[in-house]
Amino acid sequence: MKIICIGRNYADHAKELNNPLPKEPLVFMKPPTALLLEGKAFYIPAFTDDVHYELEVVLKICKNGRHVQPEFASGYYEEIGLGIDMTARDIQQKCKEKGHPWEIAKAFDHSAVIGSFCSKEQFVDNRILFSLNKNGETVQKGDTQDLIFSFDYIIQYVSKYFKLQMGDLIFTGTPAGVGPIKKGDVLEGFVGEDRMLRCEIR
Ligand code: MG
Repeated sequence: MKIICIGRNYADHAKELNNPLPKEPLVFMKPPTALLLEGKAFYIPAFTDDVHYELEVVLKICKNGRHVQPEFASGYYEEIGLGIDMTARDIQQKCKEKGHPWEIAKAFDHSAVIGSFCSKEQFVDNRILFSLNKNGETVQKGDTQDLIFSFDYIIQYVSKYFKLQMGDLIFTGTPAGVGPIKKGDVLEGFVGEDRMLRCEIR
């Protein structure tokens, strides 16, 4: 399986990091070793002093396909969950300045935290209200109506380049409010009132 991530997919987040709005989806990937499954603690790696959380809606791919046409895109995901795209912001900044790839800042071990998944059927028009609490306080609030590129557009776009395979995950981008974590923090992700993800930082 692979983990496909979309960057800068909410205008308010692109703005908070002083990034221009993309005209096409900004795509990067994480390897399977980046996965940190539901309920496991995240250990801050020694190579960074500034790991940021980025709460994102995650699509679970349910069938194989390439060059998916727009009218069929919604058939490629049935379950939706939450994930945290852990980012070594200090390292990412250096990569950006040098024009280098982001992998060491974004795709390191356990940088893709995921929670539980639920059927997408309960959401009308894929509208999902989601939020992240850090130590009980809300730090991020997202509404998928604010996505620059919709789920279906992402499926269509990404599958032009990469064959989608059952079990692949797509992180669809984070809203504003990203910030640093430290040892002892507890992160909790919610869809509406339902807690879908919990991660202790060590
Ligand atoms: Mg992200």
